[in-house]
Amino acid sequence: RKWGWSLAGELRQAAARDPGRVAVIDEQGTELTYAELLDRSMRLARALRAALGVQAGDRVGVLCRNHPGLIETVVAATLLGADAVLVNTGLSPAQLATVAQEQRLRVLVHDDEFTERTLGLPADLHRLDEQARCELIDTALPGELQPPERDGRIIVLTSGTTGAPKGARRPIPNGFGPLVSIIDRIPLHVRDRVLIAAPIFHTWGYAALQVCFALRATIVLHRRFDPAATLDDLVRHRCQALFAVPVMLQRLMELPAPEHRPPLKVVAVSGSALPGGLPAAFMDTYGDVLYNLYGSTEASWASIATPADLRRAPTTAGRPPHGTRLEIVDDDGQPMPGGRVGRILVGNEMLFEGYTSGPDRDRHDGLLDTGDLGRVNADGLLFVDGRADDMIVSGGENVFPAEVEQLLAQLPQVREAAVIGVPDPDYGQRLAAFLALYPGETLDAEAVREYVRHYLARFSVPRDVVFVKYLPRNATGKVLTRELRRYYG
Ligand code: ATP
Repeated sequence: RKWGWSLAGELRQAAARDPGRVAVIDEQGTELTYAELLDRSMRLARALRAALGVQAGDRVGVLCRNHPGLIETVVAATLLGADAVLVNTGLSPAQLATVAQEQRLRVLVHDDEFTERTLGLPADLHRLDEQARCELIDTALPGELQPPERDGRIIVLTSGTTGAPKGARRPIPNGFGPLVSIIDRIPLHVRDRVLIAAPIFHTWGYAALQVCFALRATIVLHRRFDPAATLDDLVRHRCQALFAVPVMLQRLMELPAPEHRPPLKVVAVSGSALPGGLPAAFMDTYGDVLYNLYGSTEASWASIATPADLRRAPTTAGRPPHGTRLEIVDDDGQPMPGGRVGRILVGNEMLFEGYTSGPDRDRHDGLLDTGDLGRVNADGLLFVDGRADDMIVSGGENVFPAEVEQLLAQLPQVREAAVIGVPDPDYGQRLAAFLALYPGETLDAEAVREYVRHYLARFSVPRDVVFVKYLPRNATGKVLTRELRRYYG
């Protein structure tokens, strides 16, 4: 049977063509070649079947930070025809229990640091910590495995910023369309050295990993994001590319400018909106290397902004890449005239296959409703305004939090800003801004309002201004608005 575009398939190809090439380097500098990584994954697969009875159709949970063990587990599960469920490392013990039950996990492979969180899980769920996983690999027999009776799927959990985490089944597209759509816009090459800082349990990090395997890249992984260590390793391993989420670039920019600039050709970010002031500042320091991808767990990547796009329009999400259709429609699904804000629909080979439970997302004529609002300008550049659900209606006027956040983040005192709508007896909703300032800085609420009033309409001015130490974020760096709402009880 033909292998579709999957991680296991790519690993096999890479190990056959480039067995001695280093596939992964961890933060200790330990290296595994493509042949070693495949061998370890196949041993783990064999051991999971022999010792724990894992078979086609089962689900294996993976609760791991970025390290080779995560990759081995995902590949091992899918080699058996089992599904690998990538679990967000930020879940609470209660959420983890819900996920284990809803996803009917048979095994949970987890890092040692999460052992405590797994203690309340049902006893019939096999739990494998790092030592148990390594022992299984060391004692298993090497060698080929029979092809499974079904393709193992990758299930990515949505991060649950808008509700309980849902499992989204990734597709296994035929051929290299998705890879082409990336390298068509982003100058990545075979055998590049790449640091993946975005968490691999999230769609973006996972997609990055798959692209790296297809290019037989050498991948540098750190368990946790540390800006200084990231910069050091980019230089040490002479990385040509960095895959990250926007907030990581902000943290890199807070470091003193590097003495030796890493030889980066590509810094690709996705997962949340890029603050407007960031592209120019980042590219002035690191060169014109920044790529902004817009996408979601369900739609994968739907548009890509190049450094030239970002120099022209810092908040753009770029254009749909090769093989992707993008349409802006009104609430009835009718195409919007150019430049008007509407719902963003996306069609490509990477659309998710559906949730593991519950209703699917709206699809129209092969296009998926992303749930986001945005517009395309006369040059064909996409601008994402944010989730339709996040739109604030204040006194009958529509306000996108992102627009106000972008503006607030440009105040020199402000390290990060978030805006939400809170119930208001007169206006239905009013805007509340949460600001975290740089150490030693002060700001006055009225000065903040005055500043916004200068640039935006009256209804976009936050009536509440709350100063906080930091913004609550999930593991992919997205602000947890749910936590901010708690401030209002
Ligand atoms: P949920 O909130 O539904 O649980 P989630 O937070 O995991 O899911 P993701 O699929 O990770 O959702 O995030 C996708 C959303 O992030 C997009 O729909 C969009 O709103 C936003 N987003 C992602 N990339 C960009 C980008 N480059 N520019 C602007 N917004 C982006």
